[in-house]
Amino acid sequence: MQGKMQGLAMKKIGEIGWVEKDIPSIGPQDALVKSIAIAPCTSDVHTVWEGAVGERHDLILGHEAVGEVVEVGNLVKTLKPGDRVIVPAITPDWGSDAAQRGFSSQSGTPLGGWKFSNDKDGSFGEYFTVNEADFNLAILPENISPADGVMLTDMWSTGFMGAENGRIPLGGTVAVLGIGAVGLSAILGAKLQGAGRIFAVGTRPVSVKVAKEYGATNIISYKDGSTSEQIIEATGGEGVDTVIVAGGGPDILVDAVNSARAGSVISNINYFGQGETLPIPRVGWGFGMADKDIHTGLCPGGRTRMERLADLVTYGRGDPSKLITHKFEGIEHIEEALLLMKDKPRDLIKPIVIIDD
Ligand code: NDP
Ligand code: ZN
Repeated sequence: MQGKMQGLAMKKIGEIGWVEKDIPSIGPQDALVKSIAIAPCTSDVHTVWEGAVGERHDLILGHEAVGEVVEVGNLVKTLKPGDRVIVPAITPDWGSDAAQRGFSSQSGTPLGGWKFSNDKDGSFGEYFTVNEADFNLAILPENISPADGVMLTDMWSTGFMGAENGRIPLGGTVAVLGIGAVGLSAILGAKLQGAGRIFAVGTRPVSVKVAKEYGATNIISYKDGSTSEQIIEATGGEGVDTVIVAGGGPDILVDAVNSARAGSVISNINYFGQGETLPIPRVGWGFGMADKDIHTGLCPGGRTRMERLADLVTYGRGDPSKLITHKFEGIEHIEEALLLMKDKPRDLIKPIVIIDD
């Protein structure tokens, strides 16, 4: 398909703006997709305003989308123009060495599965391309709205990974530090993984409400004193089996390690946008010998992952619409939605922009 399109881009570190580009061409395994519904991510904020992954010029932002296939390459077998698809934030190269080793999000280079809004134009444009479309796009089920589908692409997938990596014992105690859309998804993931008690750490009232609905049993405010001291006290001096880190700055790791009991997992899903090193508390970490494992991960992508997340919605295991607090209609509102994500008003969890329903 030939022609021009508009998109909201990172012009350089600290600056966004609209750009006009050619509609991209596709390779034999790719799909050209039209954006139907998109959401900005806190990661876009780290990328643009913290320059976390370095300088980018006129890179169209956005990696959370539901779209409509408009063209497929000649090797694509399972998709056709007109299909409505869930587009995962992460679109791995499935034949890569890292994918074969079981780390598909790291395909090619570390974080290499993260292509949209990192090393190629993303979903804040009218059209974008998807590599290995057969393996990276899932059909949007009829019972899931485009807006809800967008919540699966990154928020659910990342938050659930935080719980999956957390080695949560059935009935185990979990603390989720940060209850934006990612941490809230981690709470639901922890509940689905069989956690008993779940501490949610955050303050925004809208998030506290959803945290309880998603399965949190205890709410802690990091503004009421040391998070780890509050968690240690509430667990009778023990600490928790799993800490999922989903917010805060570098010092959050001190809280995380100090909140974890000996023989635990600290499952980090936070994106640390600044600083050369990150602090780990020496004594709290048992001088490096307390069996407190620190696990990291990038959102899982790919078709099967999206289909499984969609099944969780279809079979009533969770409601992604609870994450959406602000809804816009029209591509021109992407900028407003992204700035909301940057400024984080107290009534915000996640904004969504419907481009073409
Ligand atoms: P939000 O900014 O919406 O939420 C952050 C949360 O952290 C809020 O609940 C906030 O509290 C809380 N918080 C802030 N400071 C502290 C503190 N000192 N102690 C405890 N909690 C604190 O972010 P998102 O949910 O959108 O994203 C979370 C992180 O996940 C971001 O860094 C994002 O870039 C990253 N991310 C990582 C991905 C991955 O693949 N690993 C994928 C997607 C996102 P309050 O309620 O007071 O505002
Ligand atoms: Zn993201």
